[in-house]
Amino acid sequence: MNLEFSVEELAFRDEVKAFIAQCLPASLVRAQQMTTSVFPEPEVSMPWHRALRERGWVAPSWPVEHGGPGWSPAQRYLFETECALAGAPIVYPLGIRMVGPVIIGYGTPEQKRTWLPRILSGEDYWCQGYSEPGSGSDLASLKTRAVREGDHYVVNGTKIWTTHAHHANRMFALVRTADTGRKQEGISFLLIDMNTPGITIRPINTIGGEHEVNQIFFDDVRVPVENRVGDEGQGWAMGKYLLEFERGGGIASGRLRRELEKVERVLDEVRGSAPRDVRMEDEFIALACDIDALEMIELRVMTALQVGQNPGAISSLLKLRASEIRQSITRLGVDAVGAAGLVWEPRRPLYDLPEGIVSERVLPVMSTYLNTRAQTIFGGASEIQRDIMAKTLLGL
Ligand SMILES: Cc1cc2nc3c(=O)[nH]c(=O)nc-3n(C[C@H](O)[C@H](O)[C@H](O)COP(=O)(O)OP(=O)(O)OC[C@H]3O[C@@H](n4cnc5c(N)ncnc54)[C@H](O)[C@@H]3O)c2cc1C
Repeated sequence: MNLEFSVEELAFRDEVKAFIAQCLPASLVRAQQMTTSVFPEPEVSMPWHRALRERGWVAPSWPVEHGGPGWSPAQRYLFETECALAGAPIVYPLGIRMVGPVIIGYGTPEQKRTWLPRILSGEDYWCQGYSEPGSGSDLASLKTRAVREGDHYVVNGTKIWTTHAHHANRMFALVRTADTGRKQEGISFLLIDMNTPGITIRPINTIGGEHEVNQIFFDDVRVPVENRVGDEGQGWAMGKYLLEFERGGGIASGRLRRELEKVERVLDEVRGSAPRDVRMEDEFIALACDIDALEMIELRVMTALQVGQNPGAISSLLKLRASEIRQSITRLGVDAVGAAGLVWEPRRPLYDLPEGIVSERVLPVMSTYLNTRAQTIFGGASEIQRDIMAKTLLGL
């Protein structure tokens, strides 16, 4: 693997930097910096999404014919890394990085024409209806039922931990359309309009103080059959395909490096003129090395993939390492702020607080730490990722 960038690639990096300098307002950087949840609110992510869309850069991993920019792996890496290091808002991934690739891979020409432009423009904001009470790691046991009635499915059941469902106008969902055969064989993949009568959203507040997830109830919700992606009973394959993009479809190392830098600044701010804490500095250096190692794996995976291709089982390794490193960074953050971390501000989002009244570096640390505990649960718990790696990568 050649890690030297060519002259053209360096010119591209300058182009990305110039775009960021021109189009990324400080208010969005501040809002992302003070966001303690996994994803920023749409009022933060969507202006950046639209700016990227206008430039043709919102879907780096999509094929050109569907609106991707046609970048090489090196360009994608440079773009993701520069955006992360500049503190740009996270582009909400559920459309671009999750359901988009499934529609590209499995959708009919009509479905591609209908849904892909709406994902690119940001008109549709998606949520993921996979988990249910009792069906998380054992996802194939899901019970939300879709019964065919003419040209509609009638959906009944419940989904839980649904991130940003309270903002979403669309959900991609795994539903049970049959009880015969293996439990995986009776599952279908549906695209559901969240404004359909019969859908109720119940907020769930999490340990970090955020309203980020929800429970959804479906009561005779009618979904057109044309909103099924793939054949009836084939949804399990699509569900898994999507999870591989969810776990390994991006570049996490740039953003982790930015998060570690934030902790370094917190360390400096809290320490003042006191001597350096050698144990914390050791941890800091160990984490920087972990990020470098993850970056090498991400680069190798990205270099091996064609645009639009899914990363496969290696995505479990990427997800596992990124989530563990992120948790360690936020734990170091808590160590760094010490007693100042006990100050609890209940207001969310934190960036709504007037500027300058508190240390904006210190305040988000504890909430972010608490929120980050979920990183090794969502998208498939760490034990499940290890199981997948043992079976598929090591052949155990
Ligand atoms: C903040 C957050 C956001 C989420 N967002 C979404 C979302 O948008 N959409 C969605 O569909 N879901 C979402 N989830 C749900 C998430 O995918 C599940 O929580 C996760 O898959 C684990 O399932 P569970 O909670 O039912 O735990 P369980 O499956 O009951 O697992 C409990 C514990 O047992 C372990 N365990 C279970 N089975 C095994 C096994 N076979 N071998 C070894 N250990 C095992 C697990 O690793 C875990 O430690 C979210 C969850 C959180 C916390």
